[in-house]
Amino acid sequence: ISFGGKTEEADGEYFRLGTIVRLRLFGKDKKFLEGELERADAEIARLEALFSANAADSEVRRAGGEWVRVSPETYELLRRALEIAEETNGAFDPAIGRITGLWKIGTEEARVPGAEEIRAALPRCGYRNISLKEEDGARFIKLSKGARIDLGAIAKGRAADILAKKLCEDGVKSALIDLGGNLALVGAKPDGKAWRLGIQDPGKARGEYFGVVETSDGSVVTSGPYERFFEKEGVRYHHIFDPETGYPAKSEFSSVTVADRDSTKADALCTAFFVMGHARAEKYLEKHKEIAAIFLLDGENRILITDAARGLFTPTDKSFSLE
Ligand code: ADP
Ligand code: MG
Ligand code: MG
Repeated sequence: ISFGGKTEEADGEYFRLGTIVRLRLFGKDKKFLEGELERADAEIARLEALFSANAADSEVRRAGGEWVRVSPETYELLRRALEIAEETNGAFDPAIGRITGLWKIGTEEARVPGAEEIRAALPRCGYRNISLKEEDGARFIKLSKGARIDLGAIAKGRAADILAKKLCEDGVKSALIDLGGNLALVGAKPDGKAWRLGIQDPGKARGEYFGVVETSDGSVVTSGPYERFFEKEGVRYHHIFDPETGYPAKSEFSSVTVADRDSTKADALCTAFFVMGHARAEKYLEKHKEIAAIFLLDGENRILITDAARGLFTPTDKSFSLE
C-alpha cells in the first residue's frame, strides 16, 4: 500500500506484559490513529490481566487443583501452548512456573535456589500437569497438585497476534507492534515497501544489530539469554530454563529468531529451540521445513539459518559468517 498524500503517524510506549511495549501506527487520519493507540493499549492491559504469571489475581494464576472456568482467550492460548509443548517434547513448557517461581529472574528477588528445592519442584513442571476441558460451551482448566502455569515464553506472541488482527479489522493499514522485541506487523511500511527489522546482536548495546529480516506482514521473534539474567559470584544465570534440570538451559545458541505469520508459534518455538540446542533443534527442523529460523552460535560469530529463512535474512555485520 501507499497512502498517497501525507502519511500521519501515532506512536505509543507502555509498560505491559512485563516489558516495554512500543506501537507505531500509520495512516491518513491522525485522530483515528490516536484513538486506535488508546484502544490497543487497553486491549494489551486486558490480555495481561488474563495471561500474567506474576500478577497474583490473573486468570492464569487462579488455576489450581479444581476445574476453574476461564475466558476463551486463556483457554485458546493454553490449548496452543500444550500443542507446542507436545510437539517440542517438552522443551517449551507452559508448566515451568514452579521453577521460574524459585529463581525469580528478572525481579529484585532473583536468587539461586538450593538443589533440594529444584529437585522438589521438577515433578510439578511438565505440560502434562495442565488439563483442559470444554463443557456445554464453557471452558475449564485444572492443574495437578503444586503445578503452576507460566506463559512468559508465548503470551507476548499471542498478544501480538490478537493486536495485529484487531488493528487490521479496525482499518489500520500499516503498523509496527513491538512487545519487548516480539515484533509483529500490520501490512507493509507506509511507503509500500517491506519492513526491515534488525536482529539484536547479543554481545552489543541494545539497538545494535547483526542482521535484518525483510518482510511485510507477519512476525519476527527473538529469544536469548541476554534478555534477562542476574549474576552471583561471577556466574551468570539467565531466564530460559531446561525443564529437565530446572537450571538455566545450556545452549550452543546466543540468540534464536523465528519469522512466522503466527507470532504465538514464533514466540514459543524460539524459546524451545534455545532449550533444545543445536542437535535437537536440527532434528525438529528436518521435519518442519516451513520454519524460518536464524541461530547465532555462542561465542563464534557464526549464523545458521534454515532454508525457509534464506531470502528473508541478510547479515549486516561483516564479522559474522552465514552458513
Ligand atoms: P522473553 O522473556 O525475552 O520473551 P522467551 O520468549 O524465551 O523470552 O520467554 C522466557 C520466559 O518464559 C521466562 O522468563 C519464563 O517466564 C518462561 N520460560 C522459561 N523457560 C521456559 C521453557 N523452557 N518453556 C516455556 N517457558 C519458559
Ligand atoms: Mg518465547
Ligand atoms: Mg518471548
